[in-house]
Amino acid sequence: MGAEGLRDDADVIVVGAGPAGSTAAYYLAVAGLDVLVLEKTAFPREKVCGDGFTPRSVRELVAMGVPMRPEDGWIRNKGLRVYGGGHRLELPWPDLDAFPDYGVSRTRRDFDDALATHARGAGARIQELTSVTGPVLDDRTGRVVGVTARPVGASGRKAGDEVTYRAPLVVAADGVSGRLALALGIEKDPKRPMGVAVRTYFRTPRHDDEWMESHLELWDGPPGRSKLMPGYGWIFGLGDGTANVGLGSVSSRAATTRIDYKDLLQRWVAQTPRSWGFTPENQVGPVRSAALPMAFNRKPHYTRGVLLVGDAGGMVNPFNGEGIAYAMQAARNAAEVIAQARSRTTDAARERTLETYPRMMSRELGGYYSLGRVFVSLIEHPEVMRICTRYGLPRPALMRLTLKLLADVYEPRGGDLSDRFIAALTRIAPSA
Ligand SMILES: Cc1cc2nc3c(=O)[nH]c(=O)nc-3n(C[C@H](O)[C@H](O)[C@H](O)COP(=O)(O)OP(=O)(O)OC[C@H]3O[C@@H](n4cnc5c(N)ncnc54)[C@H](O)[C@@H]3O)c2cc1C
Repeated sequence: MGAEGLRDDADVIVVGAGPAGSTAAYYLAVAGLDVLVLEKTAFPREKVCGDGFTPRSVRELVAMGVPMRPEDGWIRNKGLRVYGGGHRLELPWPDLDAFPDYGVSRTRRDFDDALATHARGAGARIQELTSVTGPVLDDRTGRVVGVTARPVGASGRKAGDEVTYRAPLVVAADGVSGRLALALGIEKDPKRPMGVAVRTYFRTPRHDDEWMESHLELWDGPPGRSKLMPGYGWIFGLGDGTANVGLGSVSSRAATTRIDYKDLLQRWVAQTPRSWGFTPENQVGPVRSAALPMAFNRKPHYTRGVLLVGDAGGMVNPFNGEGIAYAMQAARNAAEVIAQARSRTTDAARERTLETYPRMMSRELGGYYSLGRVFVSLIEHPEVMRICTRYGLPRPALMRLTLKLLADVYEPRGGDLSDRFIAALTRIAPSA
């Protein structure tokens, strides 16, 4: 029974079935909770992404028991091939206790569908074509006690009247729009970094390349005679005859830029090695773009019965634009905290337990993200970017450390000198 004596529709409502929402739903269902996920689209559906999963994401997928065989559509990679400053370097994923030594790729069209199916398999109810329109607040306590939602058609258009769904706790996993958080007055922090990225697909003979490829030189005009942009281009083979090809740029503040990203992509693609075969005839589908909310740019992560997870809480890594692993990590933490909170016997104890979620996120990622903010403000200077690519890349030991730092794949305890160095930095950095 809910706070106003009305019947609850679930123990927890999750808004959105991207990686954050489906992961939260999976863990909540495994913990024995009745979980209802409301998702505005219908699977399978596209999501603008690079489709790249680092060992950090693989670790989360393994923890959930998501099948990752080639016949399930996954292709493995063994590290990163980096181009920049006239250099080319192949950096294998490090051999660590804390992470697997491989990454994977899979289209988000497939992956999000598979993850939602996995959550359903654990017992979560996922209701598609249901667009959440806002929170339902308890007049007396000010707490969120449910959401309003509207059935939509496949085109996203309204297909029925608004319905109210009630639950004592709501997980906001609605992505970068952060609509539910916004309705509660939680704005994004304009002083935190934001990224913008564009991507498309190409047919390519190198679709099963064993490396994730990244190109560090993105020029905003003629190569060598214009400004170097803070960001990189990527080529992630998908093993299905195509590769995801895109680029992303970052700004230390959420200011709008006048950069024409589609034009930038076209110019960069024209300079990629010919062996990829990225000709206009080989392009599959349009170029699409989206924003990347970084370094906890939307806080607090818990308020009045609502937990923010993934992009809704601005959890993308400012060093490399990766967001899936963090969406899953946050969702796993949120589910654990919710399950614990439900076992407490008083309202006060339940609330105290729920309040541990933002602290947990801050402890695990706050210092690292503070370093990321410094990193972004440095690489915004074209001269810094130029020096890093020209003088950093020829030094393999330095690049191995850089890979660990940028991909957030290092031994958190112990490890070699580079692991201990990164771990110490993240501990020293204030978690703001
Ligand atoms: C071009 C680009 C490339 C990227 N490349 C990578 C990469 O290679 N690797 C990586 O790890 N990360 C990458 N990212 C980041 C990554 O895509 C996100 O961080 C990740 O998708 C976040 O997951 P999420 O579940 O929080 O949000 P989302 O994946 O955005 O999921 C949100 C879900 O909520 C649903 N929803 C939204 N509003 C409502 C509503 N009102 N009612 C009901 N449902 C709603 C949406 O339909 C969606 O299903 C990239 C991002 C971009 C833009």
